[in-house]
Amino acid sequence: MDERIAQMAHHRISGLSAGDPVALPITPASTYLIPGMPVERHQYGRWTNPGWDALEEALGILEDATVVTFPSGMAAIAAVLLPNLHSGDKVLLPSDGYYTTRAIAENYLAPNGIEVQLCDTVEYINQDFTGFNLVWIETPSNPKLEICDLGIVIEKVHAAGAIAVVDNTTLSPLGQRPFDFGADVVVSADTKSIGGHSDVLFGHIASRNEVLITKALDWRKLVGATPGPFEAWQVHRSLDTFEVRYSRMCESAGLIAGRFEEHPAIESVRYPGLESHPQHDIAKRQLLRFGSVMGVTFASEELAEQFISNAEYVIPSTSFGGTHTSAERRARWGDAVVPGYVRLSIGVEPTEELWKSFERSLAGLAG
Ligand SMILES: *Cc1c(COP(=O)(O)O)cnc(C)c1O
Repeated sequence: MDERIAQMAHHRISGLSAGDPVALPITPASTYLIPGMPVERHQYGRWTNPGWDALEEALGILEDATVVTFPSGMAAIAAVLLPNLHSGDKVLLPSDGYYTTRAIAENYLAPNGIEVQLCDTVEYINQDFTGFNLVWIETPSNPKLEICDLGIVIEKVHAAGAIAVVDNTTLSPLGQRPFDFGADVVVSADTKSIGGHSDVLFGHIASRNEVLITKALDWRKLVGATPGPFEAWQVHRSLDTFEVRYSRMCESAGLIAGRFEEHPAIESVRYPGLESHPQHDIAKRQLLRFGSVMGVTFASEELAEQFISNAEYVIPSTSFGGTHTSAERRARWGDAVVPGYVRLSIGVEPTEELWKSFERSLAGLAG
């Protein structure tokens, strides 16, 4: 992995000529000079952009697959679901995964004759995939961080003749590598840890299957789900620090999750790196890192809200994977979790300072 990260950082720069800018230029072009027959790589802004190319090459090195970028995680997800499912097909989605993926299925797949079925992430292992065309997997699931065994599940999906798609947003390519377990497509909301600064919406798909890549490229070109040149530049820039940020975040999260577990003001902690996680054994085999996100359960909604508002380094906001630690009660969005369940995303703040702020906040609750 380290080799890939280093290569990613130097890939574009190694191809520069004397006098070229070391930093990636932004190309806000809708149209390009194409005299005569159009043979140039860049012709029109809905089809290509030099910034997308640079970003897709860099992300491709990280993923070890071909990458197509999109203006948000949902745009990437739509670019997999819609071109690959047709009337009469059957799709399986996680009942406990990212809600908006199910909403796309309910709004645009089911009404067009595609059968949509749901399954809990932990039950994928027992699911019969016969008759399905596409199986959507999200592990760890968001927000409950349930985990399923990718190797076993994907083998069963393939035996049934279906495509296996993994939403790898929660752990990122640094934390989990679905292609090692046979995934056909990986989707990522780069809005989270890859973008990482809470200032850009972005997404990508990755695949080693040329047919699936071509479908995603055609989809982007035809429906116009195109990333903005500036946003592509922001994500490209974020890649330079991605591994450093993510390392700090995961290390802090592991340490803090362990300390939370011992703390009397907290009912329970859900984190893949803890032995108490129900699928910790799978996590140990499957994950490269245990991630920066954890679930922390308090006895009540009030205690959870107090914890969030009293911790001086916690931003009360949705989303995760940013440089700043953030938290929210997921029940406020209607997720199937208890009212005191807080999804906590650990940022890059110095670990012990962050811990001290949590300790002060928790001490306030006990009083
Ligand atoms: C945030 C998220 C998405 C959607 O990404 P957007 O950039 O908000 O469109 C999809 N899947 C998962 C698991 C996410 O966390």
